[in-house]
Amino acid sequence: MTWTVHTLDLGEVELNQRRIVPNGEGLGVVRVPVQGWLLTKGEHKVVVDTGFRNPDILKRIGDRAKGIEQPHQRLIEQLKIHGVEPQDVNYVLHTHLHIDHAGQTDIFPMSTTVVVNRRELEYAVSGLSGPSYPPEDIKHIIDRLHTPNALWLLDLESTSGEHILPGIRCQNAGGHTEGSMLVLVDTEQGLAVFCGDLVYSVRHQLMTPTITHNDIGLTSNYVVARRSEKAAMKRLMQIAPKFFLYPSHDWPVTIEYSKVVEGAEKTLPGSLGGCWCRMTSMGYPEEA
Ligand SMILES: [Zn+2]
Repeated sequence: MTWTVHTLDLGEVELNQRRIVPNGEGLGVVRVPVQGWLLTKGEHKVVVDTGFRNPDILKRIGDRAKGIEQPHQRLIEQLKIHGVEPQDVNYVLHTHLHIDHAGQTDIFPMSTTVVVNRRELEYAVSGLSGPSYPPEDIKHIIDRLHTPNALWLLDLESTSGEHILPGIRCQNAGGHTEGSMLVLVDTEQGLAVFCGDLVYSVRHQLMTPTITHNDIGLTSNYVVARRSEKAAMKRLMQIAPKFFLYPSHDWPVTIEYSKVVEGAEKTLPGSLGGCWCRMTSMGYPEEA
C-alpha cells in the first residue's frame, strides 16, 4: 500500500518579488500560495508543514510582506475537510522552520511526533537567522524537546537520509536554509518529492532558459553559498529519473530526466490544479 497526497490550502503571502526570484519579469509585489500536505495510508497520517501562525505575523519580515487567509484556510479546518483531527496525526514533518512553514505546529498534541532536521533547529536559534523564525514557533519546537517522543531530530547532513515510515523518507536538501530537508514519498503514481522553498517558482527557475546550457535558476532567498545552492538544485532535479515535484509556493509538476514535463500537472496526485506558476504579479509599482 502506498501513500495518498492531499494538498492543504493554507492561505497566501504577498511580498516583494525580489525576495523570491532574481530577474523575474516585472517588479513589485507578487502573491503566492502557502501549502502544506496531508499524507494518508490506512490509519497512518502525516502532515508536511503547517503554514503561518496568523496573517499579521508576516509583516515582521518587512519588504511589504503580508499574509492572506480565509477562515477555511486555517490548518485545523483544512484537516477537517479530510476528516482528520490534530490528535489523529502521527508525524508532522517540517521542510524547514520558516515563518510560513511552522506556524501552526502547536495545534498538534505532544503525542504527535514533530520531525525536524537538527541543523534547522540549531540554525533557527543561532542568531544568524533574523525574523523569518518567529520565537513563538521556535519555542514551541523547543518545548517538545522535553517531552518523550514529541520531537524527532534528524541528522541529514551526515546520513544519506532517514526513514520516517515505510514509503516516507527525509533527505538533506542542502539549500534554502542550513537545515532544509526534502521529503520523499512513495505514491501509487510514483515518487513525490516535497522540496520546501528550494523551488519558489517552477516557471522562473525550472522553465526559463538561462545563459549557460541546461542550467537551473536559483531563488533569491538562500543562506548557503550560491555554488552550494546550485548544487542542491541539481541534486533535487536528479533525485529520480521521473518524479512529482511539490514546491511549497507553486503548483506541483512532473519532472522527467531533470526537465519539467509539459501538461502533466493536471494528473498529479493531490494537486489543487490550476496553472503552472501561481506567482501572480499584483502589478503594484516598485517601492521607491
Ligand atoms: Zn516559504
